[in-house]
Amino acid sequence: MAFVNAQNQRGAEVRLRPEIAALPPYRQGRPAPEGGHKLSSNENPYDPLPGVVEAVTRAAHGINRYPDATALALRERLAQRYGVTADEVIVGTGSVSLLAQFILAAAAPGDEVLYSWRSFEAYPGLVTVAGATSVQVPNRPDHGHDLDAMSAAITERTRVVIVCSPNNPTGVIVTADEFERFMAQVPESVLVLLDEAYAEFVRDGAAVDGSKLLDRYPNLVMLRTFSKAYGLAGLRIGYAIGPVRLLDAARSTAIPLGVTETAAAAARASLDAEAELLVRVDELAERRDRLHTMLVDQSWPVPASQANFVWLPLGDRTIEVAEQLFDAGLVTRPFPGDGIRVSIGDEASVTKLSTILETLVAPAQSDGMY
Ligand SMILES: *Cc1c(COP(=O)(O)O)cnc(C)c1O
Repeated sequence: MAFVNAQNQRGAEVRLRPEIAALPPYRQGRPAPEGGHKLSSNENPYDPLPGVVEAVTRAAHGINRYPDATALALRERLAQRYGVTADEVIVGTGSVSLLAQFILAAAAPGDEVLYSWRSFEAYPGLVTVAGATSVQVPNRPDHGHDLDAMSAAITERTRVVIVCSPNNPTGVIVTADEFERFMAQVPESVLVLLDEAYAEFVRDGAAVDGSKLLDRYPNLVMLRTFSKAYGLAGLRIGYAIGPVRLLDAARSTAIPLGVTETAAAAARASLDAEAELLVRVDELAERRDRLHTMLVDQSWPVPASQANFVWLPLGDRTIEVAEQLFDAGLVTRPFPGDGIRVSIGDEASVTKLSTILETLVAPAQSDGMY
């Protein structure tokens, strides 16, 4: 222990930015125990498709070379699919990196970045790293964004608004109507980032779809990723589509050459194999809806999710229930005092989850916890 403390004290004299030194260190979800299930990071439970692995293997033969700085071949593919020009597409090392780039491009010390809360746990840290200030607007009681409160919270200092649909970790969508009304209230000087990391899992026709709004708003950028539906979380690749001037600014704040040819090749191969991948996404969405029905039948107050996870808003019981799930081999993502996010894994994990929760719900109801 003394050794660990001494290790932590090394470098104590070095002057760091205090707000950075105060950030909580990143703690990844615990690995799943033997025979258990890792349901803590919204990963795709399916193994990569053979064609994608082959593309990665082929790309490995070129790793002595730097990648194409802008991944043009991939951007052209994406541009074609979304009916935009390749200049209106930017790729990054996951859409988390793109979020960081846009925030850095628009918000400096003294500026505000506005988002709903609870939402994606990466947002607060990215804003702090940019030196800007987070303004968090509480979710509605139904766990969706309160867009009226968000537009009311825009000030002279607001530079960026992040809208996450479906929202991580609650799974609740922003509807197209809500989004349209919201955009009508947002000044064109404020950048709106529509984070659609889970877009492919959406089955509710009322949900906002950034891909249909690309020519509508001069201050809107849509962010998507290959990490979730396409199962490439380990390769770090995502993309943004929006006005060229905004993308150029985000390019300027990126660390150059981050997107490897290996990742770009895997993304292109995934687009080639899209039909097959989307069958898996269908299966996950169907499994999610089935799980939701089971949990609601068990009286858990679970909001309808349109992503590849469900949200258990358990308040003070969060840690206790997460521990019980962990003991049964299910690694989930608890947010202490708030709730547990559980990713949709393979069929066995969903069955196990509903079986365990069924045994827990009865005492909770009888002692009036809900
Ligand atoms: C997973 C996720 C992302 C993107 O992750 P990357 O792996 O960096 O592409 C972005 N936004 C939200 C809300 C997410 O949950």
